[in-house]
Amino acid sequence: MKILVTAKRVEDPESKIKVKPDGTGIVQEGLKYKINPFDEIAVEEGLRLVAKHTGEVVVVSIGGKEVQEQLRHALAMGATRAVWVNHTGALDQLGIAGLLQKVVEKEKPDMVVLGKQSIDDDQNQVGQYLAEFLGWSQATFASKVESLESEQEKNKVPALQVGADGKTVRVVREVDNGLATLECALPAVVTTDLRLNLPRYASLPGIMKAKSKPIEELTPQKLGVDVTPKIQVVKMSSPPPRKAGIKVPDVAGLVDKLRNEAKVV
Ligand SMILES: Cc1cc2nc3c(=O)[nH]c(=O)nc-3n(C[C@H](O)[C@H](O)[C@H](O)COP(=O)(O)OP(=O)(O)OC[C@H]3O[C@@H](n4cnc5c(N)ncnc54)[C@H](O)[C@@H]3O)c2cc1C
Repeated sequence: MKILVTAKRVEDPESKIKVKPDGTGIVQEGLKYKINPFDEIAVEEGLRLVAKHTGEVVVVSIGGKEVQEQLRHALAMGATRAVWVNHTGALDQLGIAGLLQKVVEKEKPDMVVLGKQSIDDDQNQVGQYLAEFLGWSQATFASKVESLESEQEKNKVPALQVGADGKTVRVVREVDNGLATLECALPAVVTTDLRLNLPRYASLPGIMKAKSKPIEELTPQKLGVDVTPKIQVVKMSSPPPRKAGIKVPDVAGLVDKLRNEAKVV
C-alpha cells in the first residue's frame, strides 16, 4: 500500500517566539526549525502501516529549499522518497490543500496521513479541505488514549488499522466524552492527533541512507494550481502579560475568593 504523508517546516516549539513590533509577523532571527510535531506522528504511522502491509511512504513538503531539511528528516526516519513543492510566497490552507490534491492525483496513494494542525498557523483545515477536494472519506484527530509506549501499550490494538481486505481503515479518535471509532472506505484522508504513537528517532544509518533517497521537485505552476491566498493575516500581537498569582492562607480563603471575587462558585 502507498501512504502519502506531509512534513511542514515549523518553528521549534522550544524556541521563544517574539512578535515583530509592527505586528507583521514573528521575529525569525535566531529561530530553529523542525518538522511539525503532528506530521512526525503522521510519518511514524505511515511507516508502521507499510511495515505491516508492505508498500511505500512518500513524504511531501511545500516551501522554499529549506523544507528539504524536513523531507530529509522524514526520509531518515524511513520514508521511501520525497516530493518537494517549491514555493516561497505566501500560502493559505486552501492553497496548500490545492497543491496536495494535485500531488495526490499524481501519486495515487491509498491513504494520506497529515497532522491535524500545524503548530505555527493553528488553523486545523488542510486535511479537511483535501478530503473535500478529492471527494475521499476522512477521519480527523486519530489518537490513542494512553501516551506511553510501554510493552503493554505496544500490544494494544493500534488506533489506525487497515482492514484485512485492504479496502477500509478503522480510526480511533478522541472526542469530548470519550472515544469514537470510525470505519472509512479507502482511499481516505486521516489526520493525526497527539498520542497516536511515539515517533522513532532517525538512526545514523537512516540519516546516511536519506542522503541518497530521491526528492522530486515540483512547483505550483507545474501542478497547475493558482495559490494566490484568499486569506490574509492582518496583524499579529502578543497576548497581554499574565498577572502575578496570589497565595491564599487556607481552603476557606480559596472558597471565599472563588465565590466573592471570581464569582465562579
Ligand atoms: C474541535 C477542536 C478542539 C480544539 N481544542 C483546542 C484546545 O483544547 N486547545 C487549543 O489550544 N486548541 C484547540 N483547538 C485549536 C486547534 O487545535 C488549532 O487551532 C488547529 O488545529 C490548528 O490547525 P493548523 O492551522 O495548524 O492546521 P493546518 O494549517 O490546517 O495544517 C494541517 C496539516 O496540513 C499539512 N500542511 C500544512 N502546511 C503544509 C506545508 N507547507 N507542507 C506540507 N504540509 C503542510 C500538515 O500535515 C499540517 O499538520 C481545537 C480545534 C478544534 C477544531
